[in-house]
Amino acid sequence: MNLYNLKDSSEQVNFQQAVKQGLGRGQGLFFPETISPLENIDALLAMNLVDRSTEILSHLIGDELSKEMLHSIVSKAFTFAAPVKKVTDRISALELFHGPTLAFKDFGGRFMAQCLAHFKDDGRITILTATSGDTGAAVAHAFYGMDNIDVVILYPKGKISPLQEKLFCTLGGNITTIAIEGTFDDCQAMVKQAFDDQELKKTIGLNSANSINISRLLAQICYYFEAFAQLSVAQRENLVVSVPSGNFGDLTAGLLAKSLGLPIKRFIAATNENDTVPRYLQNGHWSPKTTIATLSNAMDVSQPNNWPRIEELFAVKGWSLSELGYGKISDAETKVTLVEMDKLGYLCEPHGAIAYRELTNQLKDNETGLFLCTAHPAKFKESVEAILGRGIFIPEALAARADLALLSKEFPADFAKVRELLMAL
Ligand SMILES: *Cc1c(COP(=O)(O)O)cnc(C)c1O
Repeated sequence: MNLYNLKDSSEQVNFQQAVKQGLGRGQGLFFPETISPLENIDALLAMNLVDRSTEILSHLIGDELSKEMLHSIVSKAFTFAAPVKKVTDRISALELFHGPTLAFKDFGGRFMAQCLAHFKDDGRITILTATSGDTGAAVAHAFYGMDNIDVVILYPKGKISPLQEKLFCTLGGNITTIAIEGTFDDCQAMVKQAFDDQELKKTIGLNSANSINISRLLAQICYYFEAFAQLSVAQRENLVVSVPSGNFGDLTAGLLAKSLGLPIKRFIAATNENDTVPRYLQNGHWSPKTTIATLSNAMDVSQPNNWPRIEELFAVKGWSLSELGYGKISDAETKVTLVEMDKLGYLCEPHGAIAYRELTNQLKDNETGLFLCTAHPAKFKESVEAILGRGIFIPEALAARADLALLSKEFPADFAKVRELLMAL
């Protein structure tokens, strides 16, 4: 697999290099040089998740990883299901939260960790990532206990849910967590700064693990196929997929699935009040505002850093951005939607509810809809219980962590402090 840097197409790397480097020169994102459609979609749809995902990933990655090796990596990464559940006659939910940290980021995080562990040479490497909640948990769990790999996670203090925080800030061992006095964008900016710091990068073997790493996106492509495989022939007709979006990795993966030939009619990019992309699609101006805290905090991103990949994909495929649906949902609408869904017999959480609402707002009569449920409702226990006015069930994995002490350090949004800690690891 060859990839080029979107900021400097003269920089070309293979899959292994892209996974290890994360970002290219000038903080450019890597993008696949060719995306050739799969020829055997029907046969693929008949396979199980692990076998099918191995085939799809092998098609993309090529001979850098043997099929046997990929199969072994995928079986260690995808150890849980992604079931599709019916919500109304025409709308289904794709539940991506049955992994160890109860969010879709387990798919990408675990696949990336397995790839890195495989590609790594003898030296130590340090994974540095910024999280608005769920990436951190997925990455921490995916790397926890691995030899010669240190993980450092920055997150905005007080801006992620208490249970979310417990899930990854109680591990210790090779996992260091830092609560930053600032926003997710501040955390992300510091990660980018670290990658521009050649001395630091070399000394600690820096690697990123947020949604900019190409391996995560490749893993995420696989569950769009999994969803499609579970739909009936009738449900596959005119399928519209609504994606709750923050950093836009999930939507990028969905669009890549479509470009590989998965017959999805169109996508909807659903955001909360942090609506840089909906405003851009509406008026053509890219004008991020200050990030605001919402109920769907994993989507509190005003500078979505996967967006250049989406633009590139549309350009390469000759698609028009006007075909991409979009919309933003306020916290007030999110609350009403959660109550409405609960009455339909489907317990959801704020991120999934935003995707559902945008789907019901935009679905046409001849279309069927699928929306992504990106996190387990229990991860947002406090807000979901307050909105629904009743208690909800907490899965064992989460309940067990809730009583443990937080091990995070607290830092100002000051790169010098973070750098010092990284050098001292
Ligand atoms: C990360 C996350 C999102 C946003 O996904 P992106 O790929 O960053 O757009 C949505 N919902 C949940 C629960 C998340 O953790």
